[in-house]
Amino acid sequence: MLALTNATVFDGRGGPPIAAGVFCEDGRITGVTTETPPAGAEITDCAGLAIAPGFLDLHSHSDLQVLDAARTEKLKQGVTAELVGNCGFSAFPCARDATELRSFAGGIFREQGDWGWPSAAAYFRRSHQAPAGQGVFSLTGHGSLRVAVTGMRQSITPEESSAIANLLEASLDEGSAGLSTGLMYAPGSAAGFDELAPLCRTVRKHDRLYATHMRSYMGGLIDAVDEQLNLARATGCRLQISHLQAAGRANWDLQRRAIDHIEAAAREGVDVEFDIYPYQCGSTVLTQWLPDWALDGGMDSLCARLCDRAAHGQIAQTVRSTMAQTPEDITITGTRTEANQFAIGLPLSALAARWNMEPVDAMLRLLLEEHGAVNVVSFNQSESNLRQLLGHPLCTVISDGFYVRGLPHPRLHGAFPELLGGVVRERRWLSLSEAIHKVTAKPAARLGLKDRGVIEPGARADLVVFDVARIAARATYQQPEQDPTGIAAVLRGGILVAGERLVR
Ligand SMILES: [Zn+2]
Repeated sequence: MLALTNATVFDGRGGPPIAAGVFCEDGRITGVTTETPPAGAEITDCAGLAIAPGFLDLHSHSDLQVLDAARTEKLKQGVTAELVGNCGFSAFPCARDATELRSFAGGIFREQGDWGWPSAAAYFRRSHQAPAGQGVFSLTGHGSLRVAVTGMRQSITPEESSAIANLLEASLDEGSAGLSTGLMYAPGSAAGFDELAPLCRTVRKHDRLYATHMRSYMGGLIDAVDEQLNLARATGCRLQISHLQAAGRANWDLQRRAIDHIEAAAREGVDVEFDIYPYQCGSTVLTQWLPDWALDGGMDSLCARLCDRAAHGQIAQTVRSTMAQTPEDITITGTRTEANQFAIGLPLSALAARWNMEPVDAMLRLLLEEHGAVNVVSFNQSESNLRQLLGHPLCTVISDGFYVRGLPHPRLHGAFPELLGGVVRERRWLSLSEAIHKVTAKPAARLGLKDRGVIEPGARADLVVFDVARIAARATYQQPEQDPTGIAAVLRGGILVAGERLVR
């Protein structure tokens, strides 16, 4: 038996902590108690430290990195379980050739090599061999389903729709945690209510989660929220609105209305919640600002359009009229070619000055030279809006961690310690108990998991031991790949897997 004694224990449910010890045996918690450990127990004195359930990252893009034992940036933050397959992108299924799935999702997953699995079962067989093993959960990406059936084509026939429904059904049977959509990313963005409603009904039938990267987080935010609420009303599915925010200065006042609509639906009985990462900047791909039609047919088609004078002009005009950020708000963080590595760390305005052209023209030139693959960090949110989201009772806190060749967003290495250090201790936006609840029992409940996210006898012995006064993220926008401080120990199944030091 392992006994962690003399700690401040947060059980994950959001109530005040208690002074106690946590006993574990055979990978499970056996007691939360002030009793003396039995003879023969391996005792670790945790005086001055807090114990929380291992964090559950409800929104991550580590689909391939969770398979790699060498990737420890999540574990070092206290994350012992992750939900991947978000925003319409999952590493399965690929019914035909994996090349198409790789070109569709490669920009999000950021890993070379032969990846892509024919089914959820095949992916889970692989993930269960990794050390992260039982802590890997995956949604089935609607975009990946689309690509498996229709390739990058946006139109769809009724036969193809039912083929997609069958693939979803099969992957839920094989243990997928639900469905995700990415309605800003082609070809999934072509799906309307009629295509999505039957899929949401299937999710409901299996009692799983439907998570959505909505059609718009900018000027179209309210319509996008209403579309998803209507889907949940019509189908009864459990809805998770992913990384909710009103992105871009011009849209900040839309957030209150979006939350009002969500609260009203929740009062009616719609099972809806949302999530956000604890940062004012977002991380995305530069194609996010392009009109849908520009991406029809994939990156080859986009590049052909960017080379056509008339199409180029039309794209540029649309971007100019819809972009809610300023060129200073968007910083280049990843490119594919060596030639443009110089642009990493530059705001779009600085790149435009370097190339002596308008910001939108510089953006389109960079997209063409990089064959569409450009990562950016974008200043999206006001501080008061972020505070309103993080403190909201329907909000789970996530990393939305995203790998890039260049500078990843600091949330990849810092989201969870940033929440407990920067947000709770320094800014005092919410209590430590509430914050812990938002990364433990709350996300576990969204996934219907009973033995995770809580500290109680019978639950898995996934635990984080940390110093309340010291926990902090060190990852910054300039130097994002830095480990946090203040995390003494991370246990997975009762075994020490990360942490600054072995507690005494
Ligand atoms: Zn997303």
